[in-house]
Amino acid sequence: QKEIEAPIIIIGSGYGGAVSALRLCEAGKKVLILEMGLNWEKSGIPFSNLLKPGKSAAWLRKKTIAPFMNLFNLTPFTGALDRLEFENINIWMGRGVGGGSLVNGGMAVTPKETYFKEVFPNLDATKFYDFYFPLARKELKVNVIDEQFLNDCPYYKFTRVGEEEAHKAGFKTMRVPNVYDFKYMEKEYKNEVPRSALNTEVIYGNNYGKNSLDKTYLKKALDTGNLEILDLHYVDNIKLNSDKTYTLNAQNINTSGDVVAEKVFHCKKLILAAGTMGTLKLLLRSNAMNDFPIGQKVGKNWGNNGNFMTGRNFVNPLHGGTGAQQSTIPVGGVDNWDDKEHPFFTEIAPLPMGMDVATALYLLINRVDKKGQVSYDKINKKIVLDWDKTNTEKMKENTDYFIKKMNKANGGTRAHLLFDNGFGANICYHPLGGCVLGEATNEYGKLKDHDNLYVLDGSLIPGTIGVNPFVTIVAISEYCIENLIKQNEFA
Ligand code: FAD
Repeated sequence: QKEIEAPIIIIGSGYGGAVSALRLCEAGKKVLILEMGLNWEKSGIPFSNLLKPGKSAAWLRKKTIAPFMNLFNLTPFTGALDRLEFENINIWMGRGVGGGSLVNGGMAVTPKETYFKEVFPNLDATKFYDFYFPLARKELKVNVIDEQFLNDCPYYKFTRVGEEEAHKAGFKTMRVPNVYDFKYMEKEYKNEVPRSALNTEVIYGNNYGKNSLDKTYLKKALDTGNLEILDLHYVDNIKLNSDKTYTLNAQNINTSGDVVAEKVFHCKKLILAAGTMGTLKLLLRSNAMNDFPIGQKVGKNWGNNGNFMTGRNFVNPLHGGTGAQQSTIPVGGVDNWDDKEHPFFTEIAPLPMGMDVATALYLLINRVDKKGQVSYDKINKKIVLDWDKTNTEKMKENTDYFIKKMNKANGGTRAHLLFDNGFGANICYHPLGGCVLGEATNEYGKLKDHDNLYVLDGSLIPGTIGVNPFVTIVAISEYCIENLIKQNEFA
């Protein structure tokens, strides 16, 4: 068994991990990141697209795990997209150096200030809107599509149709910023560069165009010379030692998922950035196995960010559909947040199937009126999620309202084929909470009952933020790590 010492270890290389790594490295600290997924860039293995799922399509499975229409015949490989399955909800997430940034839609949305204040009453909203959100957008290279390109490009017919229909139904729409480089996309369209978003690449990774974390925060951190990333290293559990240091039991796997080495890591300072579900699993499992102290609040105040997927089929043959060719990068949304009775935001989502399936797809984001809870089942050694249809009742009502209003104004039916009765209540891309800032942790993410352990990822956000979450995860992580460094936590 190999034993490795490192002063600061970060578990996970998604948003929280990448932000912490950069700021610590800039402050001259040596940092080691342990990431269970593959370093795709280093491996040289290309990402596959939606129409030809290959190695990157799924984490160690024989069948793809897109939200619908899945294919068999995969050779199990440490792919970029993974899914956790619970009784009433499935949760998707990214695996690899860059975490969720490898597989997500890149939608970079800043929450509404009023809702941010409601979710985080103890944070200084002015400081966030003047400094941390602009900083996050700058580092993530957020940009906006050119309106002329959007109007002219056949790959955005789905957005133009979606917006026209929303307006006809009396809804307000908004332009959605993204980390995908739209100048690159314009060149793709002219066939000047290899295609990515215009070649159905997204949830299995993008080979070009997308500013994922390996191209932004992680690249900058590596350029300092202070960061080392070990990929294909899965941390199974953590022990707190009597001298307040930590011991991590980890497995080094190969790309088929076989364990090639058991490793033990020791560190003085530990940052958990394994994503909401990964961090909760580590904390709850370590608690069950090793009496690891976690306090009463870990696992509480969890939510799906109001995610609710739905779709509409166009029955009218004269409708014209949403286009056979679709960019994978969403740029339009319906903003109904200020409606007191039916507050929601929805992405006008692409459905690039290689043919015009005459279906409009939407991922709604709602408020989360009733939160869930995550706990650990010691017998079956897995995390359990207390979440059922009572948690999504209001989300379903909003979705029903939206679809009915859209169909009334434009024609169409609920997409029964895609989802059970047209309602994808069990689809979650945005798990949040369970280790909430100021509840399970102190005001800057230090876990209660610990001197040397910090949580910096989506689990800090109490289950809801009203928009796609990564800009907020980055802003909160920037805020926490800046203050932790200022307080000499890593001296
Ligand atoms: P993550 O980015 O999930 O990173 C955690 C990392 O830790 C992962 O790389 C994981 O492999 C690693 N890890 C976990 N456990 C262990 C362990 N035990 N040992 C070692 N490593 C471990 N959000 C948006 O804002 N806009 C979007 O357009 C958008 N689209 C999405 C589309 C899809 C298909 C999905 C799945 C998500 C989408 N999201 C989107 C959500 C967004 O990607 C996540 O909210 C975000 O990635 C969470 O960041 P994080 O730092 O909490 O953790």
